[in-house]
Amino acid sequence: MQICEVKPSGYCKGVGYALAMVKKAVRDYPDQPVYIVGMLVHNRYIVEALKSRNVITLDDSHKSKMELVGSIESGVVVFTAHGIADDVKQRALDKGLTVVDATCEFVRKTHQIIRDFLNRGYQILYIGKNHHPESEAALSIDDRITLITDINDVDRLNDTSGKILVTTQTTMSINDTADIIDHIKKRFPQAEIAEEICDATRRRQNAVRNLKDIDVLIVVGDPKSNNTLQLARMGSSAGIKKVLRIETARDLVNTEFNENDRIAVASGASTPKVLLDNVISYLQSHDPVYLQTDLETIVSFL
Ligand code: SF4
Repeated sequence: MQICEVKPSGYCKGVGYALAMVKKAVRDYPDQPVYIVGMLVHNRYIVEALKSRNVITLDDSHKSKMELVGSIESGVVVFTAHGIADDVKQRALDKGLTVVDATCEFVRKTHQIIRDFLNRGYQILYIGKNHHPESEAALSIDDRITLITDINDVDRLNDTSGKILVTTQTTMSINDTADIIDHIKKRFPQAEIAEEICDATRRRQNAVRNLKDIDVLIVVGDPKSNNTLQLARMGSSAGIKKVLRIETARDLVNTEFNENDRIAVASGASTPKVLLDNVISYLQSHDPVYLQTDLETIVSFL
């Protein structure tokens, strides 16, 4: 077997920033509970590692972020890299909570673009994923923002000759987004485009798209990570026959590979590097030591 690591790997800038903000909150407020509303980043091992440091993640798909904030009595509340609606943040401030906003700078930039164009009378078409925290935060800015998840959503729009801005969630597929934008431009030639897929996402997808002579692509990351999902989809559309999405090396125990397989191992922007390294080491050695996901090790990487 030949095994190669797809680069870049490790945390993106926004994930690194969010983790640093949480660690700072724990240091600055040692006597107060620290809550995170939603998953700080989409990786449950990070969530578990944070829990071991007494950081409580409030994540309940049946409750809105407003309800989650409403349930906090006191302490510090951290909003995640995906961004947060203004009214939810205001509710936390009104309750007297200490607010730490870990919104990624690239998400903030998209929000600013949306606000600028709304002020200039544009309708906004936002290409994103339904029920994803990043798209929810963007849509909360104004009612004149329409979520576009695929070309069918474009076909359902009413005809208009008004001003339109098209922008995007930062972690979308570069291929799918280009197709949707083409479709929008055909229906609304006046549409202006601010494609906001971030550099970390783009570079990881391009690295997978440019893989040559690979039999198997393994993508290491959380099932909830859009970033990771898009890497796997990119591998399939690049013609790689076997694409596996896994969380840790343990998921490979019953997987059989051919002796001559050329295997590429990629990881999402929120995947701890130690999980990726363990997968590569396990493939190379089959040593069960790499099947352990040692929380302390992840904590030391936070
Ligand atoms: S994937 Fe991009 S937008 Fe999301 S946190 Fe990382 S750098 Fe920021």
